[in-house]
Amino acid sequence: MNPEAEKARAPEADEPCPTCGVTRWTALFESRSFTIGRCARCGLVRTLGVSADGDATYPAFDQRETALVRAMRFAVAQLLRERARIVERFAPAPSEPGAKRRLLDVGCGSGAFARLMSRRGFDAVGVEPFSLGRPVDEPGLRLVRAPLERVRSDLGDFDVITMWHVLEHLDAPQPTLASLREHLRPGGVVVISVPNFESWQSRFFEGGWFHLDPPRHVTHFDHATLKALFAETGFEILGERTFHFEYGPVGWLQSALNRILPRKNFLYEFIKDRGALAGVPASQTALNLALSGAAGVALAAPSVVVEALAALKNAGSVITFAARPTQGVRQG
Ligand SMILES: [Zn+2]
Repeated sequence: MNPEAEKARAPEADEPCPTCGVTRWTALFESRSFTIGRCARCGLVRTLGVSADGDATYPAFDQRETALVRAMRFAVAQLLRERARIVERFAPAPSEPGAKRRLLDVGCGSGAFARLMSRRGFDAVGVEPFSLGRPVDEPGLRLVRAPLERVRSDLGDFDVITMWHVLEHLDAPQPTLASLREHLRPGGVVVISVPNFESWQSRFFEGGWFHLDPPRHVTHFDHATLKALFAETGFEILGERTFHFEYGPVGWLQSALNRILPRKNFLYEFIKDRGALAGVPASQTALNLALSGAAGVALAAPSVVVEALAALKNAGSVITFAARPTQGVRQG
């Protein structure tokens, strides 16, 4: 037995499951020297032995803003319309004709989605503790650079609250999800999206799956554990989907590239431009970009097809739930 793997398993014994409180984990596999384990009682899957320490896990961005990076980011931003359509399908109708609906995007990143929803007629607020960007406060759009806990008392209430790929980053997802109810107007909904641990992608790539992303992803949800979380926190599910252009084909592509390229997550980091490639020599960047581009062209169409098939079997790479408070009335 590999002594390194033994060492990686050591911390798991004393870590209680955040859902059921029991400390009994079954190790599933290793990923980047972290143990991915399943709670023997409730089935929740976690990255063991880590806590979501912001400074270490989310270093400050250092963006280069080259023309190429900006162009790629623009292309990716087009995919945000897919999110907008989901939100608009489940958002309650305006209280009176012409009234603006309020949307809160928790973990808004650069604020691109909140900005898009503002342009689409919502009064949008984005909250993000980590990523780069100046605070924004203009008519219809407010971007706050602080943890939700610190600013929540002055946010008001909302018709829609979104969390796109945030819940899996939290040490304790339960209290955060439950607390969103306090910010929902009567008839308000949440739209929550996380990677799907039981997706075809996850099963195929296991520890090398792009959307597994330890140690930043602490909890790895599947349908059963996400449904249980919604039930425990007082939400009833209105609709769900597992196919997203934004996450699905990209997950196949980047996971496959990671198998063949020396530099992990090169394409993703190149597009996100978070400074992760800062020390990479230009010749290596050019080589990785050329190989990623060539493989990307070859793999793009098959990625879409196989992800669409997976989604038909409810095993797409992402689970998105739209939900409302169980009693349909405002709490507390
Ligand atoms: Zn458990």
